Amino acid sequence: MHIGLDLDDVLASWQDSFLGFYNRKHNTHFKRKEFSSYKLWEILGCEQAYAYQMVDEFYTSSFFSDIPPIPGSQKAIESLHIQGSRLSVITARPHYIQEESISWVEKHFPERITSVHFVGIYNENTSTAKKNICDKLAVDAFVEDNLDTAKACISQCRRVFLLDTPWNQGATNGIERVKSWEEIIQQLKI
Ligand SMILES: [Mg+2]
Repeated sequence: MHIGLDLDDVLASWQDSFLGFYNRKHNTHFKRKEFSSYKLWEILGCEQAYAYQMVDEFYTSSFFSDIPPIPGSQKAIESLHIQGSRLSVITARPHYIQEESISWVEKHFPERITSVHFVGIYNENTSTAKKNICDKLAVDAFVEDNLDTAKACISQCRRVFLLDTPWNQGATNGIERVKSWEEIIQQLKI
């Protein structure tokens, strides 16, 4: 089985790490559970451009280089590897942090990920871009935390798992909403 994996908030604990950075800089106390929207600026109460600027700054900080893996992800990836799955990361992280991203994947999931694909960010529809890569790689299952992307990627020959977060609530129409990596492994019956 070929499994596609989003990187942020699927393998890497992006939101918590970003909020650690943002809260320290602004002396604020935002928490992950408050983020009922994928659009950070709507919750942070700032301009979109400022939110993007903060994300760029975050990428140069130790909060970014020290992002921990999502709980259960390392064990799950190990199980998938042992049972013979091919694993590809498909991420919307910007190209300028490509090297750091690949190093992070190799550090936390050594020799377990076949390839890392970057679809770009901000100026293109990342949902469509991820779907196109899923199709090109003939991915059988895809794990994502963005509801729109999950909807775009589902097809008759592909299961899509949505890791439940405050920002991806809503109807899922065939997408398999899961609470944890353990649940994904159970659903895949590995
Ligand atoms: Mg994500």
